Amino acid sequence: MQQPDNSRRDATLVDPRVKDFLRRPHRLLIDGQWVNADSGESFPVIDPATAGIIASAAAGGKRDIDLAVSAARRALEGGVWSRLAPSERARLLWRLADLIAVHAEEFAQIETLDNGMPIAFARDFFVPAACEHFRYAAGWCTKVSGDTVPVSLPGEWHAYTRREPVGVVAQIVAWNVPLMMAAMKIAPALAAGCTVVLKPAEETPLSALRLGELALEAGLPPGVLNIVTGDGGNAGAALAAHPGVDKVSFTGSTEVGRLIVKASAGNLKKVSLELGGKSPVFVFPDADLPAAIAGAANAIFFNSGQVCAAGSRLYIHERVYDEVVAGVAAIASQLRLGHGLDAGTEMGPLVSASQVERVKGYILAGILAGARVLNEERRTELGGYFVGPTVLGSTTPDMTVVREEIFGPVVCAMRFSDEEVDAIAVQANDTCYGLAAGIWTKDLNIAHRLASRIRGGTVWVNSHSVLDPALPWGGLKLSGWGREMGREGIDAYLETKSVAIHLG
Ligand code: NAD
Repeated sequence: MQQPDNSRRDATLVDPRVKDFLRRPHRLLIDGQWVNADSGESFPVIDPATAGIIASAAAGGKRDIDLAVSAARRALEGGVWSRLAPSERARLLWRLADLIAVHAEEFAQIETLDNGMPIAFARDFFVPAACEHFRYAAGWCTKVSGDTVPVSLPGEWHAYTRREPVGVVAQIVAWNVPLMMAAMKIAPALAAGCTVVLKPAEETPLSALRLGELALEAGLPPGVLNIVTGDGGNAGAALAAHPGVDKVSFTGSTEVGRLIVKASAGNLKKVSLELGGKSPVFVFPDADLPAAIAGAANAIFFNSGQVCAAGSRLYIHERVYDEVVAGVAAIASQLRLGHGLDAGTEMGPLVSASQVERVKGYILAGILAGARVLNEERRTELGGYFVGPTVLGSTTPDMTVVREEIFGPVVCAMRFSDEEVDAIAVQANDTCYGLAAGIWTKDLNIAHRLASRIRGGTVWVNSHSVLDPALPWGGLKLSGWGREMGREGIDAYLETKSVAIHLG
Protein backbone atom coordinates (compact mmCIF):
# COMPACT_ATOMS: atom_id res chain seq x y z
CA MET A 1 0.00 0.00 0.00
CA GLN A 2 1.25 3.47 -0.89
CA GLN A 3 2.02 5.59 2.16
CA PRO A 4 1.00 9.25 2.35
CA ASP A 5 3.64 11.96 2.13
CA ASN A 6 3.52 13.74 5.48
CA SER A 7 6.01 16.48 4.62
CA ARG A 8 3.90 17.67 1.69
CA ARG A 9 0.85 17.73 3.92
CA ASP A 10 2.48 19.90 6.60
CA ALA A 11 4.14 22.27 4.17
CA THR A 12 1.34 23.13 1.82
CA LEU A 13 -1.98 21.71 2.78
CA VAL A 14 -2.62 23.25 6.14
CA ASP A 15 -3.93 26.70 5.37
CA PRO A 16 -2.19 29.50 7.37
CA ARG A 17 -5.66 30.55 8.58
CA VAL A 18 -6.16 27.03 9.94
CA LYS A 19 -2.75 27.07 11.61
CA ASP A 20 -3.64 30.40 13.18
CA PHE A 21 -7.03 29.08 14.30
CA LEU A 22 -5.47 25.98 15.89
CA ARG A 23 -2.97 28.12 17.83
CA ARG A 24 -5.66 30.39 19.27
CA PRO A 25 -7.04 29.62 22.75
CA HIS A 26 -10.46 28.02 22.27
CA ARG A 27 -12.95 29.44 24.71
CA LEU A 28 -16.69 29.18 25.27
CA LEU A 29 -19.18 31.31 23.37
CA ILE A 30 -21.59 32.73 25.96
CA ASP A 31 -23.79 35.77 25.41
CA GLY A 32 -21.85 36.85 22.34
CA GLN A 33 -18.46 36.76 24.14
CA TRP A 34 -15.61 34.27 24.09
CA VAL A 35 -14.90 33.39 27.72
CA ASN A 36 -12.69 30.96 29.62
CA ALA A 37 -14.27 28.02 31.41
CA ASP A 38 -15.15 28.85 35.00
CA SER A 39 -12.69 26.16 36.11
CA GLY A 40 -9.96 27.74 33.97
CA GLU A 41 -9.27 24.27 32.60
CA SER A 42 -8.94 23.03 29.06
CA PHE A 43 -8.62 19.67 27.30
CA PRO A 44 -6.41 18.59 24.40
CA VAL A 45 -7.79 18.24 20.87
CA ILE A 46 -6.19 15.36 19.00
CA ASP A 47 -5.56 14.65 15.31
CA PRO A 48 -6.75 11.03 15.18
CA ALA A 49 -4.51 10.24 12.20
CA THR A 50 -1.34 10.91 14.20
CA ALA A 51 -2.57 10.88 17.81
CA GLY A 52 -0.81 14.26 18.16
CA ILE A 53 -2.29 17.24 20.01
CA ILE A 54 -3.35 19.99 17.60
CA ALA A 55 -5.18 22.42 19.86
CA SER A 56 -6.85 22.76 23.23
CA ALA A 57 -10.38 23.74 24.13
CA ALA A 58 -12.03 25.07 27.28
CA ALA A 59 -13.42 22.41 29.60
CA GLY A 60 -16.87 23.80 30.30
CA GLY A 61 -18.83 22.55 33.31
CA LYS A 62 -22.00 23.19 35.28
CA ARG A 63 -21.31 26.86 36.07
CA ASP A 64 -20.61 27.61 32.39
CA ILE A 65 -23.79 25.81 31.38
CA ASP A 66 -25.73 27.95 33.88
CA LEU A 67 -24.32 31.11 32.29
CA ALA A 68 -24.99 29.89 28.75
CA VAL A 69 -28.58 28.87 29.53
CA SER A 70 -29.20 32.23 31.24
CA ALA A 71 -27.85 34.05 28.18
CA ALA A 72 -30.06 31.97 25.88
CA ARG A 73 -33.06 32.65 28.14
CA ARG A 74 -32.43 36.42 28.12
CA ALA A 75 -32.10 36.41 24.34
CA LEU A 76 -35.32 34.42 24.04
CA GLU A 77 -37.39 36.51 26.44
CA GLY A 78 -35.95 39.79 25.15
CA GLY A 79 -37.26 38.90 21.69
CA VAL A 80 -34.01 39.92 19.93
CA TRP A 81 -34.36 36.80 17.84
CA SER A 82 -37.89 35.39 18.06
CA ARG A 83 -39.51 38.77 17.42
CA LEU A 84 -37.07 39.83 14.74
CA ALA A 85 -38.81 40.10 11.36
CA PRO A 86 -38.80 36.59 9.84
CA SER A 87 -37.18 37.93 6.67
CA GLU A 88 -34.37 39.41 8.78
CA ARG A 89 -33.82 36.10 10.58
CA ALA A 90 -33.71 34.40 7.18
CA ARG A 91 -31.19 36.97 5.95
CA LEU A 92 -28.88 36.35 8.92
CA LEU A 93 -29.03 32.56 8.43
CA TRP A 94 -28.24 33.03 4.73
CA ARG A 95 -25.35 35.29 5.65
CA LEU A 96 -23.99 32.61 7.97
CA ALA A 97 -24.30 30.04 5.16
CA ASP A 98 -22.43 32.41 2.83
CA LEU A 99 -19.68 32.89 5.40
CA ILE A 100 -19.28 29.12 5.78
CA ALA A 101 -18.98 28.91 1.98
CA VAL A 102 -16.34 31.67 1.93
CA HIS A 103 -14.36 29.76 4.58
CA ALA A 104 -15.14 26.31 3.15
CA GLU A 105 -11.53 25.23 2.63
CA GLU A 106 -10.62 26.29 6.15
CA PHE A 107 -13.57 24.32 7.54
CA ALA A 108 -12.66 21.27 5.46
CA GLN A 109 -9.11 21.25 6.83
CA ILE A 110 -10.23 21.83 10.43
CA GLU A 111 -12.76 19.00 10.12
CA THR A 112 -10.18 16.63 8.68
CA LEU A 113 -7.59 17.43 11.34
CA ASP A 114 -10.12 17.11 14.14
CA ASN A 115 -12.17 14.12 12.98
CA GLY A 116 -9.76 12.34 10.61
CA MET A 117 -12.07 12.18 7.59
CA PRO A 118 -10.53 12.38 4.09
CA ILE A 119 -10.51 16.02 3.05
CA ALA A 120 -12.56 15.28 -0.06
CA PHE A 121 -15.47 14.17 2.15
CA ALA A 122 -15.37 17.43 4.07
CA ARG A 123 -14.76 19.61 0.99
CA ASP A 124 -17.24 17.99 -1.36
CA PHE A 125 -19.93 16.87 1.01
CA PHE A 126 -20.03 17.84 4.68
CA VAL A 127 -19.05 21.52 4.45
CA PRO A 128 -21.38 22.28 1.49
CA ALA A 129 -24.10 20.32 3.31
CA ALA A 130 -23.66 22.54 6.38
CA CYS A 131 -24.26 25.60 4.15
CA GLU A 132 -27.33 23.95 2.65
CA HIS A 133 -28.83 23.22 6.07
CA PHE A 134 -28.64 26.93 6.95
CA ARG A 135 -30.06 27.95 3.55
CA TYR A 136 -32.88 25.43 3.68
CA ALA A 137 -33.83 26.43 7.23
CA ALA A 138 -33.60 30.14 6.30
CA GLY A 139 -36.40 29.56 3.80
CA TRP A 140 -38.69 28.39 6.58
CA CYS A 141 -38.39 31.60 8.65
CA THR A 142 -40.97 33.32 6.44
CA LYS A 143 -43.20 30.27 6.07
CA VAL A 144 -44.00 29.22 9.63
CA SER A 145 -47.67 29.96 10.12
CA GLY A 146 -50.75 28.84 12.05
CA ASP A 147 -54.35 28.33 10.95
CA THR A 148 -57.67 30.00 11.47
CA VAL A 149 -59.95 27.43 13.06
CA PRO A 150 -63.74 27.28 12.59
CA VAL A 151 -64.86 26.52 16.17
CA SER A 152 -68.44 25.46 17.06
CA LEU A 153 -68.74 27.32 20.35
CA PRO A 154 -71.92 29.29 21.06
CA GLY A 155 -71.75 32.87 19.78
CA GLU A 156 -69.28 34.41 17.37
CA TRP A 157 -65.57 33.58 17.62
CA HIS A 158 -62.31 34.22 15.91
CA ALA A 159 -60.02 31.31 16.73
CA TYR A 160 -56.56 30.76 15.38
CA THR A 161 -53.29 28.98 16.11
CA ARG A 162 -49.84 30.49 16.40
CA ARG A 163 -46.64 28.54 15.86
CA GLU A 164 -44.17 29.72 18.47
CA PRO A 165 -40.59 28.75 19.27
CA VAL A 166 -40.31 25.96 21.83
CA GLY A 167 -37.85 28.13 23.78
CA VAL A 168 -34.27 27.58 24.95
CA VAL A 169 -32.88 24.53 23.21
CA ALA A 170 -29.95 22.37 24.34
CA GLN A 171 -28.19 20.57 21.50
CA ILE A 172 -25.71 17.82 22.32
CA VAL A 173 -23.92 16.18 19.40
CA ALA A 174 -21.58 13.35 18.41
CA TRP A 175 -18.17 13.53 16.72
CA ASN A 176 -18.63 11.67 13.45
CA VAL A 177 -19.69 14.60 11.20
CA PRO A 178 -19.16 17.54 13.55
CA LEU A 179 -19.85 20.60 11.40
CA MET A 180 -22.77 19.19 9.43
CA MET A 181 -24.35 17.81 12.59
CA ALA A 182 -24.04 21.17 14.34
CA ALA A 183 -25.62 22.85 11.29
CA MET A 184 -28.45 20.27 11.17
CA LYS A 185 -29.26 21.09 14.78
CA ILE A 186 -28.69 24.84 14.95
CA ALA A 187 -30.28 25.91 11.65
CA PRO A 188 -33.87 24.68 12.19
CA ALA A 189 -33.87 25.76 15.85
CA LEU A 190 -32.84 29.30 14.90
CA ALA A 191 -35.27 29.36 11.97
CA ALA A 192 -38.06 28.53 14.42
CA GLY A 193 -37.01 31.45 16.64
CA CYS A 194 -35.45 29.38 19.44
CA THR A 195 -32.19 30.23 21.17
CA VAL A 196 -29.52 27.57 21.47
CA VAL A 197 -26.82 26.17 23.74
CA LEU A 198 -24.71 23.73 21.71
CA LYS A 199 -22.36 21.22 23.28
CA PRO A 200 -20.07 19.70 20.65
CA ALA A 201 -18.47 16.30 21.24
CA GLU A 202 -15.27 16.52 23.27
CA GLU A 203 -13.42 14.59 20.53
CA THR A 204 -14.23 17.19 17.85
CA PRO A 205 -14.97 20.67 19.21
CA LEU A 206 -13.14 22.77 16.62
CA SER A 207 -15.45 23.29 13.63
CA ALA A 208 -18.35 24.27 15.92
CA LEU A 209 -16.13 26.92 17.52
CA ARG A 210 -15.17 28.32 14.12
CA LEU A 211 -18.88 28.29 13.24
CA GLY A 212 -19.52 30.30 16.42
CA GLU A 213 -17.01 32.93 15.27
CA LEU A 214 -18.77 33.22 11.93
CA ALA A 215 -22.20 33.38 13.61
CA LEU A 216 -21.03 36.52 15.44
CA GLU A 217 -19.58 37.89 12.20
CA ALA A 218 -22.91 37.23 10.47
CA GLY A 219 -24.62 39.37 13.10
CA LEU A 220 -26.50 36.90 15.30
CA PRO A 221 -27.47 38.83 18.45
CA PRO A 222 -25.68 37.89 21.71
CA GLY A 223 -27.10 34.86 23.49
CA VAL A 224 -28.90 33.45 20.43
CA LEU A 225 -26.20 30.84 19.85
CA ASN A 226 -24.03 29.75 22.77
CA ILE A 227 -21.37 27.04 22.51
CA VAL A 228 -19.99 25.22 25.53
CA THR A 229 -17.25 22.67 24.92
CA GLY A 230 -16.53 20.05 27.54
CA ASP A 231 -17.14 16.44 28.30
CA GLY A 232 -20.43 14.62 28.42
CA GLY A 233 -20.43 13.76 32.11
CA ASN A 234 -19.97 17.42 33.12
CA ALA A 235 -21.12 19.95 30.52
CA GLY A 236 -23.44 17.49 28.72
CA ALA A 237 -25.14 16.15 31.83
CA ALA A 238 -25.56 19.67 33.31
CA LEU A 239 -27.15 20.87 30.07
CA ALA A 240 -29.52 17.91 29.74
CA ALA A 241 -30.73 18.35 33.33
CA HIS A 242 -30.89 22.17 33.35
CA PRO A 243 -34.30 23.49 34.46
CA GLY A 244 -33.89 26.54 32.22
CA VAL A 245 -33.85 24.42 29.07
CA ASP A 246 -37.16 23.76 27.28
CA LYS A 247 -35.99 21.15 24.80
CA VAL A 248 -33.02 18.84 24.31
CA SER A 249 -32.03 17.64 20.88
CA PHE A 250 -29.41 14.91 21.11
CA THR A 251 -27.37 12.96 18.58
CA GLY A 252 -25.24 10.15 19.93
CA SER A 253 -25.36 6.66 21.35
CA THR A 254 -28.52 4.92 22.52
CA GLU A 255 -26.91 4.45 25.92
CA VAL A 256 -26.42 8.21 26.45
CA GLY A 257 -29.83 8.83 24.83
CA ARG A 258 -31.40 7.00 27.78
CA LEU A 259 -29.45 9.20 30.22
CA ILE A 260 -30.70 12.28 28.36
CA VAL A 261 -34.31 11.13 28.73
CA LYS A 262 -33.82 10.59 32.47
CA ALA A 263 -32.06 13.93 32.92
CA SER A 264 -34.85 15.71 31.02
CA ALA A 265 -37.55 14.39 33.29
CA GLY A 266 -37.06 17.04 36.01
CA ASN A 267 -38.81 19.82 34.09
CA LEU A 268 -40.30 17.52 31.41
CA LYS A 269 -38.24 18.94 28.57
CA LYS A 270 -39.23 18.08 25.04
CA VAL A 271 -36.70 15.54 23.75
CA SER A 272 -35.52 14.60 20.25
CA LEU A 273 -33.07 11.72 19.91
CA GLU A 274 -30.95 10.69 16.91
CA LEU A 275 -29.29 7.48 18.07
CA GLY A 276 -27.50 4.41 16.80
CA GLY A 277 -28.27 1.97 14.03
CA LYS A 278 -27.54 -1.43 12.54
CA SER A 279 -28.84 -0.81 9.07
CA PRO A 280 -29.40 -3.66 6.61
CA VAL A 281 -28.47 -3.54 2.93
CA PHE A 282 -30.14 -6.01 0.54
CA VAL A 283 -28.63 -6.95 -2.81
CA PHE A 284 -31.06 -8.72 -5.15
CA PRO A 285 -29.88 -10.81 -8.12
CA ASP A 286 -31.38 -8.42 -10.67
CA ALA A 287 -29.45 -5.39 -9.31
CA ASP A 288 -26.82 -3.49 -11.30
CA LEU A 289 -24.11 -5.52 -9.55
CA PRO A 290 -21.08 -3.24 -10.08
CA ALA A 291 -23.15 -0.35 -8.68
CA ALA A 292 -24.47 -2.50 -5.84
CA ILE A 293 -20.97 -3.72 -4.92
CA ALA A 294 -19.56 -0.18 -4.87
CA GLY A 295 -22.66 1.04 -3.05
CA ALA A 296 -22.57 -1.68 -0.41
CA ALA A 297 -18.85 -1.01 0.22
CA ASN A 298 -19.44 2.74 0.46
CA ALA A 299 -22.41 2.17 2.76
CA ILE A 300 -20.07 0.75 5.40
CA PHE A 301 -16.60 2.13 4.67
CA PHE A 302 -17.55 5.80 4.10
CA ASN A 303 -16.18 7.91 6.98
CA SER A 304 -14.52 4.72 8.33
CA GLY A 305 -17.93 3.28 9.13
CA GLN A 306 -18.56 6.07 11.65
CA VAL A 307 -21.96 6.79 10.20
CA CYS A 308 -25.16 6.15 12.14
CA ALA A 309 -26.82 4.82 8.97
CA ALA A 310 -23.83 2.62 7.99
CA GLY A 311 -24.96 -0.48 6.09
CA SER A 312 -23.40 -2.90 8.55
CA ARG A 313 -25.60 -5.94 7.82
CA LEU A 314 -25.16 -6.92 4.19
CA TYR A 315 -27.75 -9.45 2.96
CA ILE A 316 -26.90 -10.83 -0.47
CA HIS A 317 -29.11 -13.13 -2.50
CA GLU A 318 -27.46 -16.54 -2.76
CA ARG A 319 -27.34 -16.43 -6.57
CA VAL A 320 -24.99 -13.41 -6.48
CA TYR A 321 -23.46 -13.88 -3.01
CA ASP A 322 -20.00 -14.97 -4.17
CA GLU A 323 -19.66 -12.19 -6.73
CA VAL A 324 -20.89 -9.42 -4.43
CA VAL A 325 -18.95 -10.49 -1.38
CA ALA A 326 -15.75 -10.87 -3.43
CA GLY A 327 -16.30 -7.40 -4.87
CA VAL A 328 -16.83 -5.76 -1.47
CA ALA A 329 -13.82 -7.63 -0.03
CA ALA A 330 -11.67 -6.48 -2.98
CA ILE A 331 -12.62 -2.86 -2.28
CA ALA A 332 -11.79 -3.39 1.41
CA SER A 333 -8.38 -4.76 0.39
CA GLN A 334 -7.62 -1.79 -1.86
CA LEU A 335 -8.98 1.34 -0.13
CA ARG A 336 -6.09 3.69 0.59
CA LEU A 337 -5.79 4.37 4.31
CA GLY A 338 -3.98 7.48 5.39
CA HIS A 339 -4.03 10.97 6.77
CA GLY A 340 -7.18 12.75 5.66
CA LEU A 341 -5.20 15.75 4.37
CA ASP A 342 -3.42 13.58 1.79
CA ALA A 343 -5.23 13.81 -1.50
CA GLY A 344 -4.98 10.07 -2.20
CA THR A 345 -6.53 8.98 1.10
CA GLU A 346 -9.80 7.10 0.76
CA MET A 347 -10.24 6.10 4.39
CA GLY A 348 -9.06 7.96 7.47
CA PRO A 349 -8.65 6.78 11.05
CA LEU A 350 -11.30 6.24 13.70
CA VAL A 351 -11.79 9.19 15.99
CA SER A 352 -10.06 7.91 19.14
CA ALA A 353 -8.07 5.16 20.80
CA SER A 354 -11.17 3.99 22.64
CA GLN A 355 -13.05 3.59 19.35
CA VAL A 356 -10.15 1.50 18.01
CA GLU A 357 -10.33 -0.72 21.05
CA ARG A 358 -14.11 -1.03 20.73
CA VAL A 359 -14.08 -1.88 17.01
CA LYS A 360 -11.16 -4.32 17.30
CA GLY A 361 -12.97 -5.95 20.22
CA TYR A 362 -16.01 -6.55 18.02
CA ILE A 363 -13.91 -7.99 15.17
CA LEU A 364 -12.22 -10.38 17.59
CA ALA A 365 -15.55 -11.38 19.15
CA GLY A 366 -16.87 -12.10 15.65
CA ILE A 367 -13.89 -14.27 14.79
CA LEU A 368 -14.14 -16.16 18.08
CA ALA A 369 -17.83 -16.78 17.36
CA GLY A 370 -16.97 -18.31 13.95
CA ALA A 371 -16.92 -15.36 11.53
CA ARG A 372 -14.16 -15.23 8.87
CA VAL A 373 -12.36 -12.11 7.66
CA LEU A 374 -12.72 -12.13 3.85
CA ASN A 375 -10.35 -9.29 2.90
CA GLU A 376 -6.62 -8.65 3.25
CA GLU A 377 -5.51 -7.22 6.57
CA ARG A 378 -4.69 -3.51 6.36
CA ARG A 379 -2.00 -1.48 8.16
CA THR A 380 -0.58 2.05 8.10
CA GLU A 381 2.69 3.43 9.33
CA LEU A 382 0.93 6.46 10.79
CA GLY A 383 0.73 6.46 14.57
CA GLY A 384 -2.98 7.25 14.74
CA TYR A 385 -6.19 5.40 15.39
CA PHE A 386 -6.57 3.22 12.31
CA VAL A 387 -8.67 0.11 11.85
CA GLY A 388 -8.75 -1.31 8.33
CA PRO A 389 -11.97 -2.04 6.47
CA THR A 390 -13.16 -5.50 7.42
CA VAL A 391 -15.61 -7.83 5.67
CA LEU A 392 -16.84 -10.68 7.85
CA GLY A 393 -18.35 -13.80 6.29
CA SER A 394 -19.87 -16.89 7.93
CA THR A 395 -21.82 -14.60 10.23
CA THR A 396 -25.11 -15.66 11.78
CA PRO A 397 -28.01 -13.60 13.17
CA ASP A 398 -27.20 -14.43 16.80
CA MET A 399 -23.62 -13.06 16.70
CA THR A 400 -22.79 -9.85 18.57
CA VAL A 401 -21.21 -8.41 15.41
CA VAL A 402 -24.56 -8.80 13.65
CA ARG A 403 -26.68 -7.54 16.53
CA GLU A 404 -24.76 -4.59 18.02
CA GLU A 405 -23.72 -1.28 16.52
CA ILE A 406 -19.95 -1.34 15.93
CA PHE A 407 -19.59 2.21 14.52
CA GLY A 408 -16.52 1.24 12.53
CA PRO A 409 -15.66 -0.13 9.05
CA VAL A 410 -16.92 -3.65 9.71
CA VAL A 411 -19.61 -5.34 7.63
CA CYS A 412 -21.27 -8.72 8.19
CA ALA A 413 -22.14 -10.47 4.93
CA MET A 414 -25.03 -12.92 4.98
CA ARG A 415 -26.95 -14.89 2.35
CA PHE A 416 -30.65 -14.88 1.73
CA SER A 417 -32.48 -17.28 -0.52
CA ASP A 418 -36.05 -16.24 -0.13
CA GLU A 419 -37.74 -14.26 -2.89
CA GLU A 420 -40.67 -13.49 -0.62
CA VAL A 421 -40.67 -9.87 0.52
CA ASP A 422 -42.35 -10.56 3.87
CA ALA A 423 -39.68 -13.08 4.86
CA ILE A 424 -36.91 -10.69 3.79
CA ALA A 425 -38.49 -7.91 5.85
CA VAL A 426 -38.36 -10.17 8.91
CA GLN A 427 -34.57 -10.35 8.49
CA ALA A 428 -34.32 -6.59 7.99
CA ASN A 429 -36.34 -5.93 11.12
CA ASP A 430 -34.50 -8.47 13.29
CA THR A 431 -32.75 -5.71 15.23
CA CYS A 432 -33.42 -3.38 18.14
CA TYR A 433 -32.60 -0.45 15.85
CA GLY A 434 -34.72 1.19 13.18
CA LEU A 435 -32.72 3.91 11.49
CA ALA A 436 -32.20 3.12 7.80
CA ALA A 437 -31.93 0.44 5.13
CA GLY A 438 -30.65 0.05 1.57
CA ILE A 439 -32.17 -2.01 -1.23
CA TRP A 440 -30.34 -2.77 -4.47
CA THR A 441 -32.74 -3.98 -7.15
CA LYS A 442 -34.28 -2.94 -10.46
CA ASP A 443 -37.58 -4.55 -9.53
CA LEU A 444 -40.00 -1.78 -8.53
CA ASN A 445 -42.35 -4.28 -6.98
CA ILE A 446 -39.67 -5.53 -4.57
CA ALA A 447 -38.40 -2.00 -3.92
CA HIS A 448 -41.75 -0.51 -2.93
CA ARG A 449 -43.07 -3.50 -1.03
CA LEU A 450 -39.88 -4.00 0.97
CA ALA A 451 -39.57 -0.25 1.63
CA SER A 452 -43.06 -0.28 3.14
CA ARG A 453 -42.30 -3.26 5.40
CA ILE A 454 -38.95 -2.13 6.80
CA ARG A 455 -39.23 -0.62 10.29
CA GLY A 456 -36.86 2.28 9.85
CA GLY A 457 -36.83 6.04 9.40
CA THR A 458 -35.27 6.01 5.91
CA VAL A 459 -35.05 3.48 3.08
CA TRP A 460 -32.73 4.04 0.14
CA VAL A 461 -33.17 2.20 -3.13
CA ASN A 462 -30.04 1.88 -5.28
CA SER A 463 -28.17 4.29 -3.02
CA HIS A 464 -27.17 4.65 0.64
CA SER A 465 -26.54 7.38 3.25
CA VAL A 466 -27.84 10.10 0.95
CA LEU A 467 -29.33 13.00 2.91
CA ASP A 468 -31.10 16.16 1.83
CA PRO A 469 -32.12 19.01 4.13
CA ALA A 470 -35.69 18.73 2.78
CA LEU A 471 -36.04 15.02 3.55
CA PRO A 472 -36.93 14.11 7.16
CA TRP A 473 -34.34 12.06 9.03
CA GLY A 474 -34.63 10.02 12.21
CA GLY A 475 -35.18 6.61 13.70
CA LEU A 476 -37.61 4.16 15.22
CA LYS A 477 -37.07 1.77 18.12
CA LEU A 478 -33.65 2.31 19.79
CA SER A 479 -32.61 4.61 16.94
CA GLY A 480 -34.47 7.51 18.45
CA TRP A 481 -37.40 9.86 18.78
CA GLY A 482 -38.57 12.45 16.30
CA ARG A 483 -37.31 13.74 12.98
CA GLU A 484 -34.74 16.29 11.90
CA MET A 485 -34.74 18.05 8.53
CA GLY A 486 -37.63 18.83 6.25
CA ARG A 487 -40.83 20.42 7.55
CA GLU A 488 -40.83 18.01 10.51
CA GLY A 489 -37.39 19.25 11.49
CA ILE A 490 -38.77 22.79 11.86
CA ASP A 491 -41.91 21.53 13.62
CA ALA A 492 -39.67 19.90 16.21
CA TYR A 493 -38.71 23.38 17.44
CA LEU A 494 -42.23 24.84 17.46
CA GLU A 495 -45.16 24.77 19.87
CA THR A 496 -48.75 25.44 18.84
CA LYS A 497 -50.72 28.06 20.76
CA SER A 498 -54.50 28.34 20.33
CA VAL A 499 -56.05 31.79 20.58
CA ALA A 500 -59.85 31.98 20.92
CA ILE A 501 -61.49 35.43 20.80
CA HIS A 502 -65.12 35.80 21.78
CA LEU A 503 -66.51 38.39 19.40
CA GLY A 504 -70.00 38.42 20.86
P1 NAD B 1 -22.06 9.51 22.83
O1 NAD B 1 -23.46 9.22 23.14
O2 NAD B 1 -20.99 8.91 23.64
O3 NAD B 1 -21.79 11.11 22.88
C1 NAD B 1 -22.59 12.02 22.16
C2 NAD B 1 -22.60 13.34 22.90
O4 NAD B 1 -23.20 13.15 24.17
C3 NAD B 1 -21.24 13.94 23.15
O5 NAD B 1 -21.30 15.34 22.97
C4 NAD B 1 -20.98 13.61 24.61
O6 NAD B 1 -20.13 14.52 25.26
C5 NAD B 1 -22.39 13.72 25.17
N1 NAD B 1 -22.60 12.99 26.43
C6 NAD B 1 -21.97 11.89 26.89
N2 NAD B 1 -22.45 11.53 28.10
C7 NAD B 1 -23.43 12.42 28.41
C8 NAD B 1 -24.31 12.58 29.50
N3 NAD B 1 -24.29 11.76 30.55
N4 NAD B 1 -25.21 13.59 29.46
C9 NAD B 1 -25.26 14.44 28.41
N5 NAD B 1 -24.43 14.34 27.35
C10 NAD B 1 -23.53 13.35 27.35
O7 NAD B 1 -21.97 9.13 21.30
P2 NAD B 1 -20.69 9.13 20.39
O8 NAD B 1 -19.86 7.96 20.70
O9 NAD B 1 -20.07 10.48 20.45
O10 NAD B 1 -21.36 8.98 18.95
C11 NAD B 1 -21.59 7.77 18.35
C12 NAD B 1 -23.05 7.41 18.41
O11 NAD B 1 -23.85 8.46 17.82
C13 NAD B 1 -23.37 6.17 17.61
O12 NAD B 1 -24.22 5.34 18.34
C14 NAD B 1 -24.09 6.70 16.38
O13 NAD B 1 -24.94 5.80 15.75
C15 NAD B 1 -24.80 7.88 16.93
N6 NAD B 1 -25.16 8.83 15.86
C16 NAD B 1 -26.47 8.91 15.47
C17 NAD B 1 -26.84 9.75 14.43
C18 NAD B 1 -28.27 9.84 13.96
O14 NAD B 1 -28.59 10.76 13.21
N7 NAD B 1 -29.14 8.93 14.32
C19 NAD B 1 -25.87 10.50 13.78
C20 NAD B 1 -24.54 10.38 14.19
C21 NAD B 1 -24.20 9.54 15.25
